[in-house]
Amino acid sequence: MFRFLKRKWITGRPIPEDLLRILKRKVPVYQLLPEKYRALLHKRVVVLLDEKHFEGCGGLEMTMEKSVIIAAYAAILILEEKADYYGDLQSILVYPDDYVAPVHQYNDGGIVEEGFESRAGEYWQAGIIVLSWKDIENQLYGEERDSGQNLIYHEFSHFLDDRYGLTAGIDDDGDVMRDDEWTQIIAKAYKRLKFRRGHTFLDKYGATNPAEFFSVATELFFQKPQKLLQENKKLYTLLQNFYGLDPIRWK
Ligand SMILES: [Zn+2]
Repeated sequence: MFRFLKRKWITGRPIPEDLLRILKRKVPVYQLLPEKYRALLHKRVVVLLDEKHFEGCGGLEMTMEKSVIIAAYAAILILEEKADYYGDLQSILVYPDDYVAPVHQYNDGGIVEEGFESRAGEYWQAGIIVLSWKDIENQLYGEERDSGQNLIYHEFSHFLDDRYGLTAGIDDDGDVMRDDEWTQIIAKAYKRLKFRRGHTFLDKYGATNPAEFFSVATELFFQKPQKLLQENKKLYTLLQNFYGLDPIRWK
């Protein structure tokens, strides 16, 4: 109840000037948004900034600007479907660059091989999202500006997938364990990417497993909606229904 009242209170006030300035200058998607979504975005951003813990790691200085940029892209995904503001997600940890994470792998003999690998971002079910600031900057303003990739969309959409069990009915080979239309459409598109049938605009990382596929498809849906629509109208429509948004109209 307390949280509900607090949200009501902070979203009832005009957005602070300094936040608005950052949205206008540093958040490219903000320029594309229709007016009604800008107003919604302001509300989502102030709640996320209030409720989530943004922390710089590995020597990265966490600034208000960085927090606002991350919160803004996270807010895009929940403009229409609030998802309780990413409910039990507590912390967003930001590293300067790709960070090295420990991995545990099983080889054919069932023995665990431990090692390390470099990652740009990660979603932990424990309520943590980890991001590399260098990747974010590169994708928003740098040489990967036109790549269709967006690490923030990617990691936050893992949260939504996990919360709603969106890809839970598909195994890594693309076989379905549920028969709903949603599962069928994603499984078919995932298989197409995995077995490389035809040309695709989707990043091949999406062939890793159905969860990665959903996040990669989300990136393309928001970053290059016309490409996704051109490639797979059913998948586009499915994401359009899920997010309640039609980014192809944002121009
Ligand atoms: Zn991922």
